[in-house]
Amino acid sequence: MKILILGAGVIGTTAAYYLAKAGHEVVVLDRQPGPALETSFGNAGELSYGYASPWAGPGIPLKAIKWLLMTDGPLVIRPMLDPRMWLWGMSLLANCTKRAYALNKSRMVRLAEYSNAQMVELRRLPGLAFEGRERGTLQLFRTQQQLDHIHGDVEVLKQYGVAFEVLDPKGCVAAEPGLATATVPFVGALRLPDDDTGDCKLFTEAVTRLAAEAGAAFYYDTTVLGVETTGGLVTGVRTNHGLEVADEYVVAMGSYTPLLVASLGIDLPVYPIKGYSITVPITDEAVAPVSTVMDETYKVATTRFDNRIRVGGTAEIAGWDTTLRPHRRGPLDRSLRDLFPRAGDLSKASFWCGLRPMTPDGTPVIGKAKYRNLYLSTGHGTLGWTMAAGSGRILCDIICGHQPEIDVSDLSISRYAA
Ligand SMILES: Cc1cc2nc3c(=O)[nH]c(=O)nc-3n(C[C@H](O)[C@H](O)[C@H](O)COP(=O)(O)OP(=O)(O)OC[C@H]3O[C@@H](n4cnc5c(N)ncnc54)[C@H](O)[C@@H]3O)c2cc1C
Repeated sequence: MKILILGAGVIGTTAAYYLAKAGHEVVVLDRQPGPALETSFGNAGELSYGYASPWAGPGIPLKAIKWLLMTDGPLVIRPMLDPRMWLWGMSLLANCTKRAYALNKSRMVRLAEYSNAQMVELRRLPGLAFEGRERGTLQLFRTQQQLDHIHGDVEVLKQYGVAFEVLDPKGCVAAEPGLATATVPFVGALRLPDDDTGDCKLFTEAVTRLAAEAGAAFYYDTTVLGVETTGGLVTGVRTNHGLEVADEYVVAMGSYTPLLVASLGIDLPVYPIKGYSITVPITDEAVAPVSTVMDETYKVATTRFDNRIRVGGTAEIAGWDTTLRPHRRGPLDRSLRDLFPRAGDLSKASFWCGLRPMTPDGTPVIGKAKYRNLYLSTGHGTLGWTMAAGSGRILCDIICGHQPEIDVSDLSISRYAA
């Protein structure tokens, strides 16, 4: 079969790898001059299988109000007259019940755990280097109140059999020696020893190379303009370079997927949530982080790469606006300065933002949609890299007509029809 994949982010390229390995003729289109040049470019670097949870949960509406009132808080809403934004927000609120949280969490954990298993296989491939580390992650609490509130999370971790440790300040420094230089007090941490870290852009580039070696073709600087259909079939994709035709079509255009498929009468509840990151050169290895430290106060994650530190966070709800707002850098700089003050040179940091493709229930949308030869893989939100390998493998199995190894019945867009 000839399969056209729209989007060369971490989701599209990983699917391309599995499909090319399965022997199909794969063509990937992207408007950028290379892979991973939009949201997969500068994320926080966590492969956080243990933290796979929806945003929407009991208590979140109250927390959101608190975050909105904070100076430099982790959540920013720039209200707009965009009905999609309000509908999405209402749907998110509807998912804040205990019941919805449990259902959404179980779907995400299922996919994240499966992705973890696929990553174990991928990591064995020669050529898949991405400055990866397998040293766990730390959620750091500055206040006793934060630490007291982890009981709910701990119960969920126990329920799903996720390994964890609750650390006192000494334990935090043992896990992350650089924290001995922190300029702010902290009371403890929740450590997830099985989480991994690395650079998602390097990973995506490496997977692209492996997919190309397996025969996939990548056409860059190619903007998708529209989709041609006849009856229940997609017959081609219009691009700035002409029409591309295939047997099967996969849309993996991240936050831009709902805009494209709306023209096909598909109402996909994916909305962009902007996040920011800085990448800082390391100046003193001895006091730099060794893995990811998530600063609970600012909801900012600091991750160690080989010679760089990535600091990422913030949720800005502002539609598809990709303006890099300089003041949003504040919490990222501050968190690094507070926790690892001598680790890197902030004056040499690069600053970036990207749009997380978010569903209101946190779970991505993977599977067939409306047309017999159209598939979606998007809506991976806050943990797209974490769920990429499993998503790619599942999509490959679905397209090949094989039974996926995990239950995927509730991952497709049809779950919103109920
Ligand atoms: C600040 C921040 C921190 C994050 N931290 C983490 C983390 O630590 N761990 C984690 O797992 N996830 C994290 N994420 C989430 C993760 O980065 C995303 O879920 C993931 O990158 C989404 O991948 P994607 O392939 O769906 O989208 P993208 O990477 O955006 O890929 C979509 C592709 O489609 C292309 N495209 C779009 N429209 C068109 C068009 N019309 N024509 C042609 N091409 C088009 C784009 O050029 C792009 O290459 C973070 C995100 C942000 C913003």
